[in-house]
Amino acid sequence: MSMRTMMRRVLATVVAVTCLATGARADNAAWSEPAKPFHVVGNIYYVGTKGLSAYLIASGRQAILLDGTLKSTASQVEDNIVALGFKLSDVKIIVTSHAHYDHVAGVAQIKRDSGARLYALSADRWALENGLHDGETTYRRGTFPPVKVDHVLADGDVVRLGDVSMKATLTPGHTPGCTTWSTSVTEAGRALDVVFPCSVTVAGNRLFGNKRYPGIVADFDKSFDRLSAMKADVVLPAHPEFADVLGRARRRDAGETDAFVDPDLLGKIVVQSRAAFKKELARQKARQ
Ligand SMILES: [Zn+2]
Repeated sequence: MSMRTMMRRVLATVVAVTCLATGARADNAAWSEPAKPFHVVGNIYYVGTKGLSAYLIASGRQAILLDGTLKSTASQVEDNIVALGFKLSDVKIIVTSHAHYDHVAGVAQIKRDSGARLYALSADRWALENGLHDGETTYRRGTFPPVKVDHVLADGDVVRLGDVSMKATLTPGHTPGCTTWSTSVTEAGRALDVVFPCSVTVAGNRLFGNKRYPGIVADFDKSFDRLSAMKADVVLPAHPEFADVLGRARRRDAGETDAFVDPDLLGKIVVQSRAAFKKELARQKARQ
């Protein structure tokens, strides 16, 4: 890897880890870069960009879409769905990881173009319907096209479409309604648990004196516990580089059949994220 490529990768990771909920300033070039859609495992397909995930979970001809990326890349997600052989109208349900513009700004367009219904946990409803991060941040909050939630879910609810079941587990902190989705698939005759973890970075959230979100620190702690208790053979995050989703696809295509299977990965992500959270908590406390 050249020095330039390496620096670009490091920078991309730093920006993605920061995942500023807050304004377009943090946009990373990879977020807008087109990616070819590809099969992941079982009935799951990647339809996002190089730097922002969107996953299609298919049941026959119908599908659930998880996340819509940026407003400017919604058409890329739509084109990717069509390139896989689906019609946009095959997308019946849209769900989201969390109400931040880099994951949901494209949802309004995709919902309109597909006619799908948007399902979301009640704690992210306000943000989705107002097009604004819910809670106080250390940065100026950016806006995104508001989108109506058609069906409000509670923690633990299961969204069903044909033979697909997607369970919604509330893992709040990054946003009040941050949702970890999970499902199981069969790949080459083997059952695999798939987890789509919500982001657990602090991302500019005020951890002290957050009037709109006073329970944020306790929520982060609870979410780390909940995530570490989940079993995941395959981890598919909202920012693909957290699990090297695109690299795994390349390795799988090169013959490594189990490239997506990594049962230790979720635990590793939780340990690293909890440590980063504690560091940021101490930093913000010292500045109070
Ligand atoms: Zn975010």
